Amino acid sequence: MTTEVLHEKIQLLLDEDCCHECEGYGEDKICVHIEAIAELPTRFGDFHIVGFSNNRDGKEHVAIVKGDVIGAENVPVRLHSECLTGDALGSLRCDCRDQLEASLKKIGAMETGMVLYLRQEGRGIGLTNKIRAYSLQDAGLDTVEANHALGFQDDERDYAVAAHMIHSLKVQSIQLMTNNPKKINQLTQHGVKVNARVPHILPPNEHNRFYLETKAAKSGHLIDLRKQRFAEQREPTIVEGMDETQIKALYE
Ligand SMILES: [Zn+2]
Ligand SMILES: [Zn+2]
Repeated sequence: MTTEVLHEKIQLLLDEDCCHECEGYGEDKICVHIEAIAELPTRFGDFHIVGFSNNRDGKEHVAIVKGDVIGAENVPVRLHSECLTGDALGSLRCDCRDQLEASLKKIGAMETGMVLYLRQEGRGIGLTNKIRAYSLQDAGLDTVEANHALGFQDDERDYAVAAHMIHSLKVQSIQLMTNNPKKINQLTQHGVKVNARVPHILPPNEHNRFYLETKAAKSGHLIDLRKQRFAEQREPTIVEGMDETQIKALYE
């Protein structure tokens, strides 16, 4: 497919989507509209970036799209929740940047695929509350205790947003890049056809080396280490080189 043909399809999609109306997805009856699409050359490959508006919170969710996904089947998809401290600042309190880079690299090398970049900073509690949670962790609480202390509850709005974004782009079916099988159920509930789960495995590097260093340690030790990290992407990190026992321990 030539760039011109793709751009014609994009224009058609934009023209159609502006008149889109629906009942909304999920408890919050969220509805999203495609607002703008542009080319986005990156260090990980050439993508298009799609900007969405929604009827609820003014958050600007985006899709980073490789190739022509409009009407396509089996499109590899990664859901990434925004993490300013990790994604942009390179914080080592979480693995978000590693996860984002690994998914962009992987999808950038594919024919089609997309990363949905959901503006759900700190699991939806917002940047300032995330900093409060970090501060509680500095004082000795673990991630779970810190979140409870802040009255944090799981918020699943992002799956509704993600499902609507996938439908807005007319993607017929996806392969979800995740280590968390529960995410598939959530998307399926919102009408997304998920044909497969592709494990999201990070290459080992100096920052996630600590997972591998526990190879010889007891699994309990591994869990303790994990607790000190803020699990913003809501799934355990699997690093290339981890064995079955270590992966199993992450889910216990
Ligand atoms: Zn809608
Ligand atoms: Zn993070």
